[in-house]
Amino acid sequence: MTDLLTLHKYFLSQHLRRGGVAVDFTMGNGHDTRYLCEAVYGGEEAPGRVYAFDIQQAALDSTARLLSESGTPENYTLICDSHDRVADYVHEPFDAGVFNLGWLPGSDKRVTTKRSSTLPAIEAAISLLAPGGILLIAVYPGHEEGRLEGEEITAMLSEKSRFRMSVGRFQFINSPTSPYFFIVEKKEER
Ligand code: SAM
Repeated sequence: MTDLLTLHKYFLSQHLRRGGVAVDFTMGNGHDTRYLCEAVYGGEEAPGRVYAFDIQQAALDSTARLLSESGTPENYTLICDSHDRVADYVHEPFDAGVFNLGWLPGSDKRVTTKRSSTLPAIEAAISLLAPGGILLIAVYPGHEEGRLEGEEITAMLSEKSRFRMSVGRFQFINSPTSPYFFIVEKKEER
């Protein structure tokens, strides 16, 4: 049976490179951050860099603990700010960016990602994405804000020029409340 998580990792891995740059737009407990740090690390000569954002200090603390205890290479910058402010912190093009929308597992469900910052954050991410780079955006439509986030992201991304980027959505259509994800691949400049 097709597993969406495996598919998600497959797309991501195709765009990550040793010495490259990646952004985790929703750090949470740091599992994606850790994956990205290890994937871009090419040794001391090419450590790569991962920028990770969250608005909750608890997420930064939890991620810092995970990265330190797991011996993850120290090629990361953890940022306690909203992801729509990415351009204030990231001043280089990045190869891969991950949004895992929703709330921090095991914490206050009211602190969930919201359309008012998610949509501007995706626009900002597209601007900073390197040609040939990828964005993966996981959506949880089983709660109301998640459902609306997915609808508005669909509307926004449907308007993007196919000459500039390819946009796809991977979803089990016979399970409408299950998580799904978007991929945005920016085309190489000619
Ligand atoms: N990828 C994470 C992991 O591996 O544990 C899980 C992410 S969790 C589903 C979503 C996270 O987005 C929460 O930790 C939440 O605090 C964060 N978040 C909510 N609004 C945000 C915003 N405007 N900017 C950055 N992070 C935000």
